[in-house]
Amino acid sequence: MPSVLWVLFDGGGDRPKNGVTPFFAALKPVIDKLTSLGSCGIMDPISPGVRPGSDTSHLALFGYDPYKYYTGRGAFEALGAGLELRPGDVAFRTNLATVDARGIVVDRRAGRYVALEEAREVESLMADIGEEVERKFGVSVVYKSTVEHRGVLVLRGAVSHKVSDTDPHATGEAVRRAQPLDASSEAKLTADVVNYITEAFAERSKGLEANKRRASRGEPLINAVLLRGAGYMPEIEPLRKRYNVRGAAIAGVALIRGVAKAVGMDLYSAEGLGGTKFDKFEEAAKLAVELLKRYDLVFLHVKGTDSASHDGDFRGKVDVIERLDAALRPYEAILEENYVVVTSDHATPILVREHTGEPVPIMLYGPDVVRDDVGKFSELTCWRGALGRIRGLDVMPTIASYLGLSEKFGE
Ligand code: ZN
Ligand code: ZN
Repeated sequence: MPSVLWVLFDGGGDRPKNGVTPFFAALKPVIDKLTSLGSCGIMDPISPGVRPGSDTSHLALFGYDPYKYYTGRGAFEALGAGLELRPGDVAFRTNLATVDARGIVVDRRAGRYVALEEAREVESLMADIGEEVERKFGVSVVYKSTVEHRGVLVLRGAVSHKVSDTDPHATGEAVRRAQPLDASSEAKLTADVVNYITEAFAERSKGLEANKRRASRGEPLINAVLLRGAGYMPEIEPLRKRYNVRGAAIAGVALIRGVAKAVGMDLYSAEGLGGTKFDKFEEAAKLAVELLKRYDLVFLHVKGTDSASHDGDFRGKVDVIERLDAALRPYEAILEENYVVVTSDHATPILVREHTGEPVPIMLYGPDVVRDDVGKFSELTCWRGALGRIRGLDVMPTIASYLGLSEKFGE
């Protein structure tokens, strides 16, 4: 039974610069051969002109309308960090930061580098604060450090995501007080809890060993925690139920891992997949091909194209595409026996350095998929293909139909 390998270049879409795009310029013989044998088109990840975030776009691509299921990035981020979330839990993205004596943020990332033992020490302080919160407010708190200064905070209880950020999103400004964003008692309680945690952390972080060390070396202190992006865990019917598809995702980025997990995919990691433009794909490609035997759908997320785009690095973006293609080369014959989808979750043009709202190219290869006359995967060519112009939400039903897994609509 054939399965589907879905390669997604995050922010892979682009606008022509001197007439070419990174997809057009990249030497990618495997992808281009499959393209020449399959169907191409262009895809509006959400709908024409909407500038997607990676989270909303991935939801749409996995077949879940983001206008219905997107509840803020916090919940997906927390899932991706390995926390178990229940429907109704409220999650925040957090930064460890440095404030001056007046509480003004001087570094939103506390020097950016936070060592593992420092992160563990912060987690244990947060656990203490969490116990107090539980006693005082009846809300349970879980905090987890992810990478460097980043972390996630989850609240469980009579809480609400309708609460403002404490992160001022800029240096030179004071840490904000969380405000309830509606009149509910849950929003009020959540704001109280967030403000309690913020103040307790400011006070008690003075005693961290990490800060004694940092102070003696003149490094930025970890003396504030900034919260943003409150989101609640939505009720999501898993992929397997909704599309009858068993899915696996290989991704290095917490946010994408979180979205994949939220829709019920099994998560896998591979060596070399850290989420930067320097990632290596040999292990990921090998794993993906192995997983094709066990899953209907294997999703491989490539973050480097987006990272290079935000840096304005055309050559770097081309390199990521070429490295991924080279990693697939040993498996060309196996891929030709399966289905392959190649696309992007949105454009991040090198010249703009931000996500934009135009459609991105998409390619679908399969032994029984129509062969159109497009021989190269790119923005400049795929619009001529047999898939025409589709939406992100159309991808999963298309995959399920080719795999023979979808239910008939009507009789
Ligand atoms: Zn993205
Ligand atoms: Zn991006």
